[in-house]
Amino acid sequence: QAETSHTQKIVTYTPELSNALNQRVSMIKALKLAIANNELVPFFQPQLDLNTGELVGAEVLLRWIKPDGTLVPPFTFIPLAEASGLILPIGKLVLEQACQLNKQWQDKGFKPFRVAVNVSGVQFDQDNIVDEVSNALTLSGLEPKWLELEVTETALMADINEIIAKLSQLRELGIELAIDDFGTGYSSLNYLKRLPINRLKIDQSFVRNVIDNEDDQAIIEMILNLGKSMKLSVLAEGVEGPAEEAFLKSMNCDEVQGYYYAKPMPTSDFEVYLQSINKA
Ligand code: C2E
Ligand code: MG
Ligand code: MG
Ligand code: MG
Repeated sequence: QAETSHTQKIVTYTPELSNALNQRVSMIKALKLAIANNELVPFFQPQLDLNTGELVGAEVLLRWIKPDGTLVPPFTFIPLAEASGLILPIGKLVLEQACQLNKQWQDKGFKPFRVAVNVSGVQFDQDNIVDEVSNALTLSGLEPKWLELEVTETALMADINEIIAKLSQLRELGIELAIDDFGTGYSSLNYLKRLPINRLKIDQSFVRNVIDNEDDQAIIEMILNLGKSMKLSVLAEGVEGPAEEAFLKSMNCDEVQGYYYAKPMPTSDFEVYLQSINKA
């Protein structure tokens, strides 16, 4: 009898499993084609100085635009890209494009700002990440101080000495480093103080409910105090309205990013945006 149920299990599970597998394999194929066909395009979201309102940076957020115009958000293809290793060629491309575009904007006479590129843990773990960043800078001619890498806490959870060494090499190139989604990982303060970073990005989950949720208010206040005592700049992401902004202002938050100011935009719209603020 045990044998019968075992057999039944195989019969019922196999088709589903192979379906799921087939689906993954064909999505990976599609993603490969998307890279070759330039369907992965960078969008840009402004980062502002909260005191002056000035543009200080732009985060690159990748979109997959299919030939029929469908826009695929990153949460559906980035995890697949990470699992399949495709994040390495994708990440390299994003880095190169970001540096190139930022250099072009400077050459067009726009007031310089940082371009912030998300770096996946898989990418960060590579031995040649420092060379890759260095090459992107050389190829574009962008001054290193106008490039920032955003790394999540979870990407920094491996051997601390190795991580510090790698981050230090990146800092020595002259670029800036930010911890993304700060507050959602598990880094201890002792760990954090050893990292050669410039900025903490408060995760949007805390910012979203800050008006009604006292716990989130306390968390944001804590991160801002932490930033002050560790001499790190703090940016709040996911700012959607004036009430959130007012709270962050009252807490002396350094920088902000969110739909309240601007949504992520394709290059052409972002240039129109740059023109509008450079005229003012
Ligand atoms: P992230 O780096 O934390 O980026 C912030 C996300 O918040 C973006 O989502 C952005 O569009 C969204 N956002 C910004 N302001 C607001 C707001 O006011 N309200 C709300 N509700 N959302 C806001 P997006 O573009 O969907 O990207 C999601 C995640 O995908 C990113 O999170 C990042 O982890 C990843 N990602 C995007 N582009 C890349 C990339 O080029 N490489 C890697 N490795 N990951 C990327
Ligand atoms: Mg980010
Ligand atoms: Mg984030
Ligand atoms: Mg995120």
